Amino acid sequence: MSLDLSKIAKLKRRGGGYGGACPACQAAGRDKRGDHLFIDANGIYGCAAYPGDAAHRKEVFALVGITSTAKAPARGLPDLHPLTFPAMRKLAELRGWPLFAGVEIACGRGLLFACELRDGPGDPVACWCITDSARRNLQARRLDGKPFAHRWNATGKTWEACTPFKAKTIGPARWPVGAADIGDRPAVLIAEGSTDFLAAHLIAWWFGFAPQVAVVAMLGAGQSIPDDAAPHFCGKRVRILIDNDTAGEEAAARWAGQLHRAGVAHVSGFRWHGLNDRQGQTLKDASDFARTLDEEAESTTNPLDGLVSETHLIQ
Ligand SMILES: [Zn+2]
Repeated sequence: MSLDLSKIAKLKRRGGGYGGACPACQAAGRDKRGDHLFIDANGIYGCAAYPGDAAHRKEVFALVGITSTAKAPARGLPDLHPLTFPAMRKLAELRGWPLFAGVEIACGRGLLFACELRDGPGDPVACWCITDSARRNLQARRLDGKPFAHRWNATGKTWEACTPFKAKTIGPARWPVGAADIGDRPAVLIAEGSTDFLAAHLIAWWFGFAPQVAVVAMLGAGQSIPDDAAPHFCGKRVRILIDNDTAGEEAAARWAGQLHRAGVAHVSGFRWHGLNDRQGQTLKDASDFARTLDEEAESTTNPLDGLVSETHLIQ
């Protein structure tokens, strides 16, 4: 049982977890300061004004809880499980992100799961994967941060050691993950690959736009926006987070053209050029940028600037 962090007002990091406004108290006109709710490092939550009150916790869950959106796996996809709170935290820590709010939002939207995949002749390894409700494909990485090191040789029916690779795509890579679940959100961020997909959720949340922004992952710079995904983008304001390399630029130009033909309201791109991390290294992608977010120092750059129009914020 976890809570949708994107729906909690005045969310702050507290200890290993979070604090914020209690939605049940606020619904009853209480908790004006917005600090009753606590979520500990294991995801256990409660209200400081109603300690140990099961009925109050139920009310909180009814308002902002995440009900599991796990579906039966499509053919060929592994079983999907909710990611545990410690696994979410570890995932963010391995990437160097200051918070795992983005990870949790992706889980809450049914876009991020845990699964087990074989990597060689031994036991399956714990992985995290992104997918969407279309269940056409998924992209998985190992939860321990290590690369996969084996490929299945279907002819010889054996596992063979191979050049290590970080992400494993199951199902057709052509489907943009998240497209099926854009829904009525007015704005869309497009990221390249599963890591930037999660980072983009964090960035949207950090700058206060999580409710208005859907995130879509293209599974590789060589992919295109397929015709059957195009209707999901129609009428949206779309921003492409452009990887800082030639492949990223070429991909963005291609996707922008395809999005125009899909009838988007507006398409723009954001480049990381000229931005550095604390060590002075040039940023390459959304994950690098997410690593630079700092609660103590306000970011001078907002990659979502101008994406969400004023009218959508008032609604
Ligand atoms: Zn309360």
